[in-house]
Amino acid sequence: MREFGYQRVSDVSGAVALLDADPEARFLGGGTNLVDLMKSGVERPSRLVDVRALPLDRIERTDDGGLRIGATVTNSDLAAHPEVRRDYPALAQAVLAGASGQLRNMATVGGNLLQRTRCGYFADVTQPCNKRLPGSGCPAVEGEHHNHAILGASEHCVAVHPSDMGVALAAFDAVVTYETADGPGQLTLDAFYRPVGDTPHRETALPPGALITGVVLPPAPVAARSRYRKVRERASYAFAIGSIAAALDVREGRVHEVRLAFGAVASRPWRATTAERELTGQPADAAHFAAAADAELAAAVPLPHNGYKVTLMRNLVVAELTELAEESARTEEAGR
Ligand SMILES: Cc1cc2nc3c(=O)[nH]c(=O)nc-3n(C[C@H](O)[C@H](O)[C@H](O)COP(=O)(O)OP(=O)(O)OC[C@H]3O[C@@H](n4cnc5c(N)ncnc54)[C@H](O)[C@@H]3O)c2cc1C
Ligand code: SF4
Repeated sequence: MREFGYQRVSDVSGAVALLDADPEARFLGGGTNLVDLMKSGVERPSRLVDVRALPLDRIERTDDGGLRIGATVTNSDLAAHPEVRRDYPALAQAVLAGASGQLRNMATVGGNLLQRTRCGYFADVTQPCNKRLPGSGCPAVEGEHHNHAILGASEHCVAVHPSDMGVALAAFDAVVTYETADGPGQLTLDAFYRPVGDTPHRETALPPGALITGVVLPPAPVAARSRYRKVRERASYAFAIGSIAAALDVREGRVHEVRLAFGAVASRPWRATTAERELTGQPADAAHFAAAADAELAAAVPLPHNGYKVTLMRNLVVAELTELAEESARTEEAGR
């Protein structure tokens, strides 16, 4: 391992100034991804600027009834927060579906959004990889890609984003806030992750040296009836091969509002806007859920060894929305 500096900061402007002065420095959250990548030689920062003492560790109500989640809130604290569990249950479930208790105690919200792909070629510095070494090629297209992307990828990179938390944040229209030496800014989660195109190494639209300060969730009554479901190759401590965050509001048997986001299918948490549009106003039954999933997945471009994800995601949409619709019907019945 190369030598690197370490500095703990206690104010946001000081943190931002350090990265502004040294573009080779990196912010350090829980270190659960960055330090692993330093050990394998993928990341070679000159200095780590530890952000965990910054006053960004709170979850607060916004004036309009949403939630502001600080960037250094740990995954454990986020999943345990009573208002997150009540108002955005899919978010708490998504966080709990990730990693292990020890890792969630360390990992932060900012770091989770910026964690890198788990593509094996990316992590192996002896291999070409356009994301790690632009222009070197993408061996995954012809090689090992059973857990790679079916949506929104390009010939230059077919990696998926590994975050569970991000999938629920995408479903709930989260906005990422950040600070730079030039002042504060914000990005919707949709704008935060850049399209892959021919620049897979440029993953986000964050300005260079930007410190993520938090995530804002707008008020979303539909989110109170939401769920996260994750499919993985073993029961715990594994990344998703497909996942879904879903929220559903059914009125008199028809879909009044629906939110759907997919995980492990694209370079970003994938908001299923086509399916949402197809479903709104339709009967809340399995046939319509399946038709909406098909409409979304019509854009899928599977590789030779990951076509199973199309069927998997279709089944997840139908199963998850059916459960939410049944729950909604039971609540409606009990209220009569
Ligand atoms: C064995 C294992 C299993 C895992 N399983 C899952 C899983 O199933 N699902 C899942 O979602 N995740 C999983 N993870 C990933 C884990 O959730 C991430 O490593 C973690 O969320 C990253 O957070 P961190 O605070 O440790 O980030 P760090 O490792 O500290 O940083 C990650 C990146 O974010 C940058 N960064 C950190 N904070 C900020 C900030 N405030 N502003 C700007 N940049 C910042 C860093 O510079 C770095 O580039 C797993 C990890 C491991 C090791
Ligand atoms: S899929 Fe992306 S991360 Fe994986 S080898 Fe190809 S370019 Fe690299």
